[in-house]
Amino acid sequence: MRELTIAIDGPASSGKGTVARRVAESLGYAYVDTGAMYRAVGLHTLRAGADPTDPVATTGIAGSLHFGFDWHKGQLRIIVDREDVTTAIRNERVGGAASAVAVHPGVRSALLQTQRDLGAGGGVVMDGRDIGTVVLPDADLKIFLDAALEERARRRHAELPGSVLDEVRGELAARDAQDSGRRTAPLRQAEDAVRVDTTGHTIDEVVERVLGLVHERRGR
Ligand code: C5P
Repeated sequence: MRELTIAIDGPASSGKGTVARRVAESLGYAYVDTGAMYRAVGLHTLRAGADPTDPVATTGIAGSLHFGFDWHKGQLRIIVDREDVTTAIRNERVGGAASAVAVHPGVRSALLQTQRDLGAGGGVVMDGRDIGTVVLPDADLKIFLDAALEERARRRHAELPGSVLDEVRGELAARDAQDSGRRTAPLRQAEDAVRVDTTGHTIDEVVERVLGLVHERRGR
């Protein structure tokens, strides 16, 4: 059977990471988390003491990193310059830095070719903000996952022990505004994407819906 290229975009905490990983697992496809790449650039920027709003410094950092994705015991590990950064990139400080560096066209183009190479040949699920619009415009199936801000804030709050719901909501709203408002590759739904609202739905329901769309496409 033909192996598809599947693009999943959406705002922070819309469930796209979990859905993309589960869909990839179920189909035996590779999963590429492009947000992790921007987070890794954010992490290296903070570590270097550089300013995430500085386009020159951050573009230099983005261009110098080597990315690898490794499946280990059912988990996707993100390897950057031989260091496993899977855990180090999962916090709101790095998320904020990722969103700030992702504004710069130089940073985006430094990551674009690697992302396209990872998506070439099919049999891949890639998630991010601009996959259906910029990275893989010819993807066989494009999904735009969305959910109400309140629900996304509750999900993120539940994942982060010790966090304060109001703060989490504020950070998500700020990141969405920055991601949707930037000039280069803003977060937006591709014209040919299917919008799936996950508000009030379980992950299992959303995964089923996406797999249904995959089977429909394969039959074409
Ligand atoms: O998806 P995740 O929350 O891990 O992404 C972190 C940040 O990386 C996003 O807020 C966004 O600014 C940036 N990003 C992007 N384009 C992508 C994936 C992520 O700009 N394709």
